[in-house]
Amino acid sequence: MAKQKTKPRIVPNHVYYFDDKGADGNKDMKDILGGKGANLAEMCALGLPVPPGYTISSEVCSYYTSHNGRFPATLRDEMNTAIARMEKSLGKEFGSADNPLLLSVRSGARVSMPGMMDTVLNLGLNDESVEGLAKRSGNSRFAWDSYRRFVQMFSDVVLEVGPDAGEHVNPFSLALRKIKKQRGVANAIDLKVEDLKLVVKTFKGIVLRRTGEAFPEKPADQLWAAIGAVFGSWNNDRAIAYRAMQKIPGDWGTAVTVMAMVFGNMGKDSGTGVAFTRDPSTGENRFYGEFLMNAQGEDVVAGIRTPDKIEKLEKFAPTAYKKLLRIQKKLEKHYRDMQDLEFTIEKGRLFMLQCRNGKRTGFASVKIAVDMVRERLITKREALMRVDPEGLNQLLQPVFDQKQLATAKKEGLLLTKGLNAGPGAASGMVCFHAVDAVAMRAKGHDVLLVRQETSPEDIRGMQASTGILTARGGMTSHAALVARQMGKVCVAGAGECLIDYKKARMTVNGVVIKEGEKLSLDGTTGEVFTGAMKTSPSEILRHLFGKGRKRKPTASAQAYEKLMSWADEYRTLGVRTNADQPDQCATAIAFGAEGIGLTRTEHMFFEGRKIDAVREMILAADQDGRKKALRKLLPLQRKDFEGIFKAMEDRPVTIRTLDPPLHEFLPHEPKQMRKLAKELGVTAKALGAKIASLQEFNPMLGHRGCRLGITYPEITRMQARALFEAACNVAKATGIMPRPEIMIPLISTAKELELQATIVHEVASEVFTKKRFSVPYLVGTMIELPRAALTAGEIAETAEFFSFGTNDLTQTTYGISRDDGGSFVPEYIEKEIMPEDPFASLDGSGVGRLMEIACADGRRTRRGMKLGICGEHGGDPKSIQICQDLGLDYVSCSPYRVPIARLAAAQAAIARSL
Ligand code: PEP
Ligand code: MG
Repeated sequence: MAKQKTKPRIVPNHVYYFDDKGADGNKDMKDILGGKGANLAEMCALGLPVPPGYTISSEVCSYYTSHNGRFPATLRDEMNTAIARMEKSLGKEFGSADNPLLLSVRSGARVSMPGMMDTVLNLGLNDESVEGLAKRSGNSRFAWDSYRRFVQMFSDVVLEVGPDAGEHVNPFSLALRKIKKQRGVANAIDLKVEDLKLVVKTFKGIVLRRTGEAFPEKPADQLWAAIGAVFGSWNNDRAIAYRAMQKIPGDWGTAVTVMAMVFGNMGKDSGTGVAFTRDPSTGENRFYGEFLMNAQGEDVVAGIRTPDKIEKLEKFAPTAYKKLLRIQKKLEKHYRDMQDLEFTIEKGRLFMLQCRNGKRTGFASVKIAVDMVRERLITKREALMRVDPEGLNQLLQPVFDQKQLATAKKEGLLLTKGLNAGPGAASGMVCFHAVDAVAMRAKGHDVLLVRQETSPEDIRGMQASTGILTARGGMTSHAALVARQMGKVCVAGAGECLIDYKKARMTVNGVVIKEGEKLSLDGTTGEVFTGAMKTSPSEILRHLFGKGRKRKPTASAQAYEKLMSWADEYRTLGVRTNADQPDQCATAIAFGAEGIGLTRTEHMFFEGRKIDAVREMILAADQDGRKKALRKLLPLQRKDFEGIFKAMEDRPVTIRTLDPPLHEFLPHEPKQMRKLAKELGVTAKALGAKIASLQEFNPMLGHRGCRLGITYPEITRMQARALFEAACNVAKATGIMPRPEIMIPLISTAKELELQATIVHEVASEVFTKKRFSVPYLVGTMIELPRAALTAGEIAETAEFFSFGTNDLTQTTYGISRDDGGSFVPEYIEKEIMPEDPFASLDGSGVGRLMEIACADGRRTRRGMKLGICGEHGGDPKSIQICQDLGLDYVSCSPYRVPIARLAAAQAAIARSL
């Protein structure tokens, strides 16, 4: 059955043809044909049943955008040739009244952007050809059903007739609903031919009223307008928002695929569906999907009717079902990855309309990758490259507290059940509109977006919500697809939810839930509860942290451990954690951290009695006063360090000396100031004056970092003493040999480090002599100011290691305050001035360049010196790739990002070796 891949017969310029005899393109041409076009070409070459068609390259989209909506001159001729070939292949004619070739016009970028761009089906119909189609098919109902779908879709997508201001519902949906109500039917498939004719007439009336022009009748005009609209949809609001979220460059553009229509709405022996070669939620190896008989594709995806499970298809279309089973196996083997398929059955005959690598949950991606290695479909390296490190977040997501869940069920709080479309547990307040969800989130509330069904317009609201609940739609509905991709909890198709948008409430089995009330969603079981519930750690966390360890690990936990062990095999970067407390250390170690890359000592200062001593030290009138306060602080700080050394055992522990501006430790509220003045035995006025004297215009660029240790050397001295005494005490008491690495922050000159390092070495030698014991240690510095990066060669004469503080280094390189960038950086990203937030993902060409200089100059002075990163970027996969390329020794990130960093480091090492 498989046919040889045919070589391109022409050298296509803009148009790539495909039919059952072969194709001009192939699966590796996604950059210009988009995922859809490339994979359709590949399926044709594999001999699979695909309707003929052609793909217009994404380069035309860029041309169209940059030439004010004009097409390249040769496109018309190329399209005419392709259409003539389709006509010949099918024996139909585009534009004919009695034997019309109808087309679908579909978008397709190089990565899938589900539902973000536009599609037009049944194009080519008009008042004449609808009769021709009715006659040829012998099925008037089908012809008029296709026509009413076309008019609605074309008007919506191409003519942009949508809800006017103040309208919640699309005017076409509203008109259709009215006619269905008048006729007493629930679904459009139950409308008679005469009703459908009325629908078309009504729709056209809406178009005339709202645009002032009649609906276009000429198929060629329809086609050009549709192609323009699909290209234009690359820059619609939701596509732009989606691209910003997924970090997809705006200059890629979309391809457009024009294909001959096949009809799933031709009657009871026709249908359409979407399927996955494995379960996209759990990763289980079973064919998984949904279909609707007598329907077109958009019905399944839009969630207008709730579809049937794929197994049932055998009953309705046994031959097509068997063929589909064979094809899905073949495609998975061919692509060596889980596939997402779209198919249509026309009068019992199967057609493939799309295949692509299927979107999946974090759980599924790990399980599928590990299973496919076992099945010898892929290698370990491929498995590691397949899993999105960010997706691991989902595996660590909480579930409901089991006890509370059982009680909730006993107390009858289970409200309803839908499909378990996005795993995890979420509680929050109900919002019925995306804009409200965004607004409530901005006020700090956890939000659940509750919709009849979601649409791409809801994308920002979905992003703002912790969970999504829909009343309609299946596992492949928009809500389900997008939620899974975003890693959001989702329960879809909970049909008992009757939502009244106007009254801002819903009724579920007689229970009324108003906007703002709390619900809890279990996206793993599909259950919905009234009220908020506590959450508890996921099965992976339970396995890693405790009781679960005694039980046999679940399939997910086993797959996770396997993948992580492969990651450790392949990565060359070390992974450390940023932790300030023993419990954080324990968490990070369970996640696989190999040391501490940053302990911010100031975080310890806020606990218990420590803050009193810190304040006393800051407010002391002279050095003697400061020393007195520091003596109080010493045993407390020593105890902190002992806890950390014990938790980290013999792993390296980087401890940073005091960094923030001192006023951060002081009270600013009058009541608290009065209390502190009383405790210190000074007047409130004197205290107020002292606090005011510590105020700075730009505290982040002021008296902070090593500048504190330079002006108050006794602070560094106390911290070094506490640290070395703690290390010796732990070593003596437990036999563990701590490995402290003392790190001086915010260095801009070599002299600063020299002065601070001298203090640390002096204290070390005093402590070691007194204790008659010593521990190995290093003294190094953070590189977090451009000057430090540029003079790293000199600094490395003293520094035994560098750790890049990329939070401050980004702040000072851009001159953007890390605390204030939030008010305009999002707009910069939307306007594509910045590809992404430089505080989240390292700016390779600017900040990265400074790091490159520092690495090279540092290592030139001190061969093989240890280099790490401890800014937030240490847990970001893209930044980790930069760190790999720069030759750093380790990255350091917050405990919950350690697994992500391990996998990203493996990917970076593999990518570098390719
Ligand atoms: C940094 O600047 O990157 C850093 C880790 O230090 P902090 O965030 O504490 O300023
Ligand atoms: Mg810093």
